[in-house]
Amino acid sequence: MTNLVDVVVIGGGQAGLASGYHLRRRGLDFTVLDADPAPGGSWQHMWDSLHLFSPAEHSSLPGRLMPAQAGETYPDAGHVIDYLADYEKRYDLPVQHGTRVDAVRRDGERLLVEADTATWQARAVISATGTWSRPFLPAVPGRRTFAGRQLHTVNYRAPADFTGQRVVVVGGGNSGAQIAADLALDGQVEVTWVTQRPPRFLADDIDGRALFDVATARRRALDDGRDDTGGVGSLGDIVAVPPVRADRDAGLLTAKPMFSQLSADGVRWADGCRESADAVIWCTGFRPALSHLAPLQLRGTSGHIATEGTRAVGEPRLHLLGYGDWTGPASATLIGVGRLARDAARNIAELLAHN
Ligand code: FAD
Repeated sequence: MTNLVDVVVIGGGQAGLASGYHLRRRGLDFTVLDADPAPGGSWQHMWDSLHLFSPAEHSSLPGRLMPAQAGETYPDAGHVIDYLADYEKRYDLPVQHGTRVDAVRRDGERLLVEADTATWQARAVISATGTWSRPFLPAVPGRRTFAGRQLHTVNYRAPADFTGQRVVVVGGGNSGAQIAADLALDGQVEVTWVTQRPPRFLADDIDGRALFDVATARRRALDDGRDDTGGVGSLGDIVAVPPVRADRDAGLLTAKPMFSQLSADGVRWADGCRESADAVIWCTGFRPALSHLAPLQLRGTSGHIATEGTRAVGEPRLHLLGYGDWTGPASATLIGVGRLARDAARNIAELLAHN
């Protein structure tokens, strides 16, 4: 079955929903295709104790303020899922859940969007498929010889899955620090936290609000042709959310340098030190989920697609939203994606008006 539509949005997480909001405001005919069977994007798959690093009112999509969560300054993932599900319903966004797009191809005047269930012929496409489905694991010698469990951030749920075990957590970003803190606070797990370089905690009074302000100031400076003020990376890597701060202050969150290899029963450092482990949790990041765009042959050597704003340089009918700062400042945050979605919708409306 082939459907005709002006715009197809691929991905129904926060970036896809923000796109839908602005496409609707522009009166465009669109559909949103989402692989997950239920609303909430990647928030549905995060670990049990995860909380946002910004208060609710600083975590909102366009049009609708995220309500506060009772008893929590920083809402949990369940609250975000409820907010996104409500957002989808409130704005009557046409999201087809359980629809995975396999390929986007050029087809004359149109782009052909192929899913397992059907095909769409669109005049423009917004890709908003996130990174969660593409966990990255570094190549470390001995990874295949380790006899214990190896997980990535995407598979971690709760300390109860590791009671009485020795667990090595790898990664100096927010996921690594938060998962190491979660396990250490539990008190029933022996945790070793390993980072490539010494962990860089942000000052305790810096949360997502301040990070957004820094990203915005940088964008303004660059747009105005002023000197680069430095992005959020210049401030540090780890937001000191309450559990991380508690563990750090209690001396439970000290990192060891990265080990040089895995052995059957644990990890080894270059100086010969070793530590046995029952599990290794790789909090080593993600790559953008772009395989459905492969037929368009747009990827450069960086693994990204070159963009001007959100628009793909090599295919003006394609926009990319979310993923990371390479598609716009704070594009992969709740508060940051709205402005970029608005720009993408405006750009698409202009394109369609002239074709
Ligand atoms: P996703 O939420 O991943 O949604 C992508 C959607 O696309 C999914 O529903 C998926 O099913 C669908 N999809 C994927 N591939 C296909 C396909 N081929 N066809 C159809 N559908 C597809 N941000 C904040 O603002 N505040 C925070 O406190 C915060 N904390 C974070 C903590 C962690 C641990 C992580 C990992 C991220 C955090 N973020 C936070 C960042 C950010 O908000 C998320 O990464 C966000 O989920 C990105 O939204 P998205 O819509 O781009 O992608």
